[in-house]
Amino acid sequence: MALRLYNTLSREKEIFEPVEPGKVGIYVCGPTVYKDSHIGHAVGPVIFDALKKYLTFKGYQVKLVINITDVDDKLIIESKARHISMDELAQEVSAGYFESMDKLGVNSIDLYPRATEHIKEIIDMIQKLGENNAAYAVDGDVYCDISECKDYGKLSHRRSEDQKDGSRELAGSEKRNAGDFALWKKAEEGEIGWESPWGYGRPGWHIECSAMSTKYLGETFDIHGGGLDLIFPHHENEIAQSETATGKPFANYWLHNGLTRMKTKSASGEWQDEKMSKSLGNIQPLKEILETYPPQCIRFFLLSTHYRRPIDFSEESIEASKKGLMNIYRTLERLERLDGDSDLFTTEGNVKKMSEKINGDADQALFDAVAQGHLRYLESLDDDFNTAGAIAVLHDLSSAINRYIDKQQLERQGGEHGRMMAIESGRMLTWLGQVIGLLEGPLEKQEGGDALAGQLMEVFIALRAEARKEKNFALADAIRDKLTALKIVIEDRPDGAIWRKEQ
Ligand SMILES: [Zn+2]
Repeated sequence: MALRLYNTLSREKEIFEPVEPGKVGIYVCGPTVYKDSHIGHAVGPVIFDALKKYLTFKGYQVKLVINITDVDDKLIIESKARHISMDELAQEVSAGYFESMDKLGVNSIDLYPRATEHIKEIIDMIQKLGENNAAYAVDGDVYCDISECKDYGKLSHRRSEDQKDGSRELAGSEKRNAGDFALWKKAEEGEIGWESPWGYGRPGWHIECSAMSTKYLGETFDIHGGGLDLIFPHHENEIAQSETATGKPFANYWLHNGLTRMKTKSASGEWQDEKMSKSLGNIQPLKEILETYPPQCIRFFLLSTHYRRPIDFSEESIEASKKGLMNIYRTLERLERLDGDSDLFTTEGNVKKMSEKINGDADQALFDAVAQGHLRYLESLDDDFNTAGAIAVLHDLSSAINRYIDKQQLERQGGEHGRMMAIESGRMLTWLGQVIGLLEGPLEKQEGGDALAGQLMEVFIALRAEARKEKNFALADAIRDKLTALKIVIEDRPDGAIWRKEQ
């Protein structure tokens, strides 16, 4: 099945066809680095990192670029307030951003270009717009004349007069059209700025993305991504500038991810949606979230919703998602206990071997779960990159493996054949997850510890079983309670007790 993506430009799902066969260029609008990142800043990078991984899995050679806006009014104001230079502020905030991206497994970004390092490209593009009659200078400021931009509004389907909402400090009678936006802003001496043909100043926000995406991906490239809130005016203006400057189509597919919504409690105690915004003061720094939860849980959480839908961010929703991921890890831990040397995270499941060795209904059911799951997983991703559907397959596969282990009583009776079937299924489970950067390895903190800890736990479990056998329930309960205090949970199963460490 071919990959289909919803293109905001056509408002339809389209079959994905890259400009150059076998190669894909993706540009995503990145953060303005003036304050610590919040969860909303993680959404785009996680989604597009996962998309790149999937496209790579499909055989494409992918280049993924996320820009860093390091010159902007907000940076200037914040750096003044903190009595540091704009550059220092940008370095500090972007370092924190990269650290968080690293923890989230966002490791496929090829380039993080900074606006301040591309002033020449920005000036060149403004000059091209000037040559095409689409840029004009007024007293040191330079505006884009949208009446000279063909099809202005084709992405957002909004009228140019609406521009006012999104543009900052641009209103004024000197503009030719109300919707004209700044390409270059005049700066006073002593302020942050660069020399240009129009005098000392700094670039507008929209032009930096056009200049950098074109530089690294070409005048026409495949996918442009960003949050839904960027469609207008930012992306509309990027299209207008780029296509007017080059005379060529800009990005072929526009992918927009849903925004993060906070769930908050109303006065009457009802949970209600609230769009995340700084003014609401409801934003937790990403860094703190990644200290509270294992980063893999956050990645899993963000990919558990289809990328075009809003993500409801609340303690409850993260906890629910974490519980789901933990269930999968618990299955993997059961498999590891069956075979200490199973390379669950590094080996692709051998489906062929499984199919050749099917012996009985339980084997068949497990094999079907693996084979059909494999198919459904890739179909979901091909259908507008539906990671939520793909993750549902991981849950189903995990349950099927648990059922198999229980039914075959593998933990009690072992058996080479049953173990092989279960382990190969587990390898398929991690292999599928890894297609979008999940289940890459054991969960940090979730690990029970080293081998000695495991052996000690076996001793406690045996002592507790002995106490219960002798009907010394007080002692059995005491052992359990003391372990609970250490966040170690003992679970009694028909085939014996197992243990795990809670977060
Ligand atoms: Zn942008």
